[in-house]
Amino acid sequence: MYDYIVVGLGVAGWSLLQQLDENRQNYIVFDNQSQQSTRIAGGMFNPVILKRFTPAWKAHEWLKYALLQFQKAELQNNKKYIHYIDIYRKLTGIEEQNNWTAASDNPVLSAYMKDITFEPVDGIDAPFGFGVLQGTGIVNVAQLLDDVAADLKQRNKLIQADFDYEQLQIFPDYVAYQDIKARKIVFAEGYGLKRNPFFKHLPLTGTKGEMLMIETDADIPHIVKSNVFIAPNVAQKGQYYIGATYNWEDKTNTPTTAAREHLEIKLQKFLTKPYKVVQQKAGIRPTVIDRRPLVGKHPEYHNVAVLNGMGTRGVIMAPATAKQLFQYLEFDIPMMPEIDIKRFG
Ligand SMILES: Cc1cc2nc3c(=O)[nH]c(=O)nc-3n(C[C@H](O)[C@H](O)[C@H](O)COP(=O)(O)OP(=O)(O)OC[C@H]3O[C@@H](n4cnc5c(N)ncnc54)[C@H](O)[C@@H]3O)c2cc1C
Repeated sequence: MYDYIVVGLGVAGWSLLQQLDENRQNYIVFDNQSQQSTRIAGGMFNPVILKRFTPAWKAHEWLKYALLQFQKAELQNNKKYIHYIDIYRKLTGIEEQNNWTAASDNPVLSAYMKDITFEPVDGIDAPFGFGVLQGTGIVNVAQLLDDVAADLKQRNKLIQADFDYEQLQIFPDYVAYQDIKARKIVFAEGYGLKRNPFFKHLPLTGTKGEMLMIETDADIPHIVKSNVFIAPNVAQKGQYYIGATYNWEDKTNTPTTAAREHLEIKLQKFLTKPYKVVQQKAGIRPTVIDRRPLVGKHPEYHNVAVLNGMGTRGVIMAPATAKQLFQYLEFDIPMMPEIDIKRFG
């Protein structure tokens, strides 16, 4: 008998596996690659909302723990996943310069928001300078998931198949799926949760995001945020991530011409050097009506749980929420009410 079945190997599922490993639980993981939010994400960690210069909910508090977990994975796999890279927020005028200066006095924001700089950045047009953010960067989550999947596969802990919800049997002390038995099951399917009959009452909305990968001669060592992000591809020198779009209607993972055009129009407003698009990808962010994670036990079955709703900041949100879920499931330590699915009845 396993301790856990985990359905979904995105950043949420991975974060739970970290808890299970720390607590010597044995588990089996299902993943069908139907969702790819984590794999195509920019992987950026940044606790500041760059539109309004306000702190993102819980992000400052949870970032340290997230980075600790990614560091642990670095040690386990002898790989570098975390890349600290400053964010240069392109300022649009004097009013934004003043807003930046005022916001950077906030005790939380001052940890990240530093001075305004007029230092030129190759290939970027920024007459009003940049507000500089430090302590930010990129986690190479796609590489991390590849490494984790390879390791799990080798240890016969990964089943690369669709989890068929109809075959799950729930008993008071365990769950059974085909010939597998486990004390508990946790669903971490990202937007795939929409197909899950056990949690269909949860208001997961889903927001499609598309990104481009470009090649350019511009040498941009920072993440630059204008009306879109341009960020160095940490896996391939000379390539840059451009993203992302937000679409609340289309729920497919199919890249669209409209999104590509939208991103390119925005990019051309501030990138002054030529570029070539080498890749375009799309995924669905698991966003929630109240913009908080969806974590907790099924209202009837205490051994069936969910870890979802990481929204636009999965890198920061997933490790801390996975920890809360594990402590709740094993030690009955209450979770923060804001993330507990009990809020939806
Ligand atoms: C374009 C884009 C850019 C983004 N940029 C950032 C960023 O810079 N920083 C950041 O922190 N976040 C970013 N995000 C958000 C982030 O990607 C998400 O918050 C996070 O990846 C969600 O992780 P997850 O594990 O919940 O879901 P997913 O990554 O979608 O993983 C769910 C997994 O479950 C599997 N699955 C689903 N159903 C089943 C089933 N029935 N059987 C078996 N397996 C199943 C799926 O195949 C998938 O592998 C971005 C998202 C997008 C789309």
